[in-house]
Parts: sequence; structure tokens; C-alpha cells
Amino acid sequence: MHVRKNDNVKVMSGDDRGKEGRVVRVITKTDRLVVQGINLVFKHVKRSMDYPHGARIQKEAPIAASRVLLVCPACNRPTRVSMTPAKDGRRARTCKKCKQAITVEE
Ligand SMILES: [Zn+2]
Repeated sequence: MHVRKNDNVKVMSGDDRGKEGRVVRVITKTDRLVVQGINLVFKHVKRSMDYPHGARIQKEAPIAASRVLLVCPACNRPTRVSMTPAKDGRRARTCKKCKQAITVEE
């Protein structure tokens, strides 16, 4: 996938188009992401110790990874990335706009 956890991404389509946020979770199996503050939905919580009267809480729902672009940390623009093999065998990402390598944090 072109984005990793803790990347900054920009949403390019849907209700949250134009917003930016940090990736908090990557769901590889379904090519989806949870992005902080993006795609908020109300969750209804049943009564419990934490919520004695129940509650409606806002929570991020996953969105399709194809709806976001990575925001390049070097040039600060939303960009597509190309995958290039790194010397240590892992794949590195390169910003298609400024050609800077973007670190892959594991
Ligand atoms: Zn860049």
C-alpha cells in the first residue's frame, strides 16, 4: 500500500475531500485506512460502567486507501509515490513531485 501508519494524508474524494489527517490504522486486507478526524460516524454505546446512561460517541470509520494521497514531508504537497527498491532490500517510496525519498517507518 502507498501509505503507512503515522503518514499524513489528504483525502481526495467523498465528504471529507480536501481534509488532511494522520493515518492511525492501516487495514491491509481490505485496502482501507483509519485517518484521524476523517469519516466520523456516531457510534451508539450501550450502558456500561464507563457510560452509565449509554452515549453517542463520534469515531473514525475506515475509508478506502485509494481515496487519499500521501502528503510529502519534504515538499508538503499531496502526491503520488513510486516504489523503489532500497539497498537493504526493503522498498522505499519516492515523491513523484520533488523526487525526495520518503522514509518508511516500520
Ligand atoms: Zn515531495
